[in-house]
Amino acid sequence: MRTALVYHEEMTAARLLWDDPECEIERPERLTAAVERLQQGGLEQRCLQLAAREASEAELGLVHSPEYVSLLRGTQALSTEELQALSGQYDAVYFHPSTFHCARLAAGAALQLVDAVLTGTAHNGFALVRPPGHHSQRAAANGFCVFNNVAIAARYAQKQHGVRRCVGAAVGWGLRRTESGGVGCSETPCGALLCRGGLLAPRWEAQPLSGLCTPYPRILIVDWDVHHGQGIQYIFEDDPSVLYFSWHRYEHGRFWPYLRESDADAVGLGPGRGFTVNLPWNQVGMGNADYMAAFLHVLLPVAFEFDPELVLISAGFDSAIGDPEGQMQATPECFAHLTQLLQVLAGGRVCAVLEGGYHLESLSQSVCMVVKALLGDPAPPLLGPMVPRHSALESIQSVRAAQAPHWTSLWQQGSTPTLSLSTFLPERRPSAVSPGEPKCKAAEAQTSAVLSSLLDQLHLYATPPVRTVIALTAPAAALVLPPDVLHQEGSAPREETQAWARLHEALTQDTAFTALGKVLHLLNGILDGQVSSGIATTPAAAPTLEVVLRQGLSHGAQRVFCVALGQLDRPPDLANDGRILWLNIRGKEAAALSTFHVSVPLSGTTGGFLSCILALVLPLAYGFQPDLVLVALGPAHGLQDPQAALLAALLRGPAGGRVLVLVEQECTCQLVGVLARVLHGEPPPSLGPFSMASPDDLQALAHLRGQLGAQWEMLQLLLECRELVA
Ligand SMILES: [Zn+2]
Repeated sequence: MRTALVYHEEMTAARLLWDDPECEIERPERLTAAVERLQQGGLEQRCLQLAAREASEAELGLVHSPEYVSLLRGTQALSTEELQALSGQYDAVYFHPSTFHCARLAAGAALQLVDAVLTGTAHNGFALVRPPGHHSQRAAANGFCVFNNVAIAARYAQKQHGVRRCVGAAVGWGLRRTESGGVGCSETPCGALLCRGGLLAPRWEAQPLSGLCTPYPRILIVDWDVHHGQGIQYIFEDDPSVLYFSWHRYEHGRFWPYLRESDADAVGLGPGRGFTVNLPWNQVGMGNADYMAAFLHVLLPVAFEFDPELVLISAGFDSAIGDPEGQMQATPECFAHLTQLLQVLAGGRVCAVLEGGYHLESLSQSVCMVVKALLGDPAPPLLGPMVPRHSALESIQSVRAAQAPHWTSLWQQGSTPTLSLSTFLPERRPSAVSPGEPKCKAAEAQTSAVLSSLLDQLHLYATPPVRTVIALTAPAAALVLPPDVLHQEGSAPREETQAWARLHEALTQDTAFTALGKVLHLLNGILDGQVSSGIATTPAAAPTLEVVLRQGLSHGAQRVFCVALGQLDRPPDLANDGRILWLNIRGKEAAALSTFHVSVPLSGTTGGFLSCILALVLPLAYGFQPDLVLVALGPAHGLQDPQAALLAALLRGPAGGRVLVLVEQECTCQLVGVLARVLHGEPPPSLGPFSMASPDDLQALAHLRGQLGAQWEMLQLLLECRELVA
């Protein structure tokens, strides 16, 4: 993976010139600390390093008014007193004589990153910038933000790279909302009207396109900063070509910027309804489980349905542990997981742009985690209990209810969405909390102690020297692999292979025996920490899988998450002691045979398949916290190659990248190739046009979540919903 890193040290020039406790946390060390940590970790050197350029005034004008740009230009010549007076006209802002230069570099860095990714110079990247941007508005600085870097980048991407072209029925480049709901359409130069993918959901309707249509690439902006990026929301709130997702500390409106329109029921305006997604956190202390639940149950279902062509991240890290602003608990590696989840969208075209983040250690670690994920490294496993908070589930349920009319992927079988438990206006604007307010020293020291102990644990996780290995029984000349995916030649010792093969007649046959030796060797490499992930073929998937499970447990694995597709039954005498979670995807019935044995049908629609992965497979996998993931594609597994690739890509997360895929030999070379690329960190191919989940799919998932929600808290959405409504 080629990852661009855009930076310029002149962005450290602006700093606060007078006493202001509100603004003092936005300081140059935020950048220098992050850059130093990237260098120490050897990450900067692995990236394509680009020196940021200044955005032109015309580029700033894509979002900001000429008067505002001209006002900012004028700040370069102001005295300290004049700068302080001007700063006082805005909420939580300070200006410095170099602010205009720094802010133009920050916006320019975001544009350079977009250029690099959309021209194919890089696959993805990170722009390390200050001042941040997401609070900035058309004619106003706000919350340390001067120019809205990410919003300018989105508009620039559409203008500079959004060429009108005839794309055929498979890909939509235009998107339009009608009065009565939504419609996804493409406009072509030849004048033909195409519905997105040729498929319309029932409440969507095709209408002739007009000047309202937006012939631009669809852009998803994910704002994981702990503050609401109201600036971005205002700029795109009536625009269906940009989907804006923000989660933010809200506390029922008692946290800065105290806006009614930060709540879940602010969903956008006019044709943009449904394209603003706000997830307000009403308590502090949200952690890894809450953030993962928000992605799995809100952002990703909507994002897959939206099908963006570019993903921009407003990457603020004041939502990470230790930050005095956010007071949240998510650990740095959580941001690697969030990044990995976003990389399966838009062909992996992901551009992260720094926003907030005021605890230097937490900020630097989190930046490193995102860059590692962008480079394709597996994310370290998530620490701590994976149990979402009640308040988080309440917020998630509110936003799902608010967005359900706009997104078919959020419809729920047998539930009537209700708004809104967390929605109410504060009676008056409180003065208790605002950006930069000094916090209690004792609490800060305590948080720092917790943080450093967590970071110590994280350092114990070493990335294996080899990322991906494939072990084939026959040479496959047609196989095209990334250059550093290794072919495994070696096998386990003959005696060891024989000992296992004796258990199953089928494994004593020549080819199956050879395959078993290779599989065991690969498995041992993964469990010993030499190899991160691998793919092996075998003519006898069922007995081989059973041996792998037994060998895995006897070789030190504590918990193995096994996803079996096709004709593969759970071996009856396998230990049912909670060390193996077996999920079978096939058949007609949805059934939880025990807490650790689940069966679900394979859906025939993309919507049904995605719901199964996002609402069942990943919550189970993340909740189980396995140290090894096995994916077995048995006879008649029924998965298309892009589906298998997406499944494998997403299952890199739960066990820190330790994934072994077993493939029945009848499967094609092409499948092995695509699996090797995603395990190596490349994005999976598109699933194709979005089609709604069937009522049967939704019923199966609702049934399983009802049966399993008490044991697996990451699934708990519907249960909690009923409880809350009651
Ligand atoms: Zn922030």
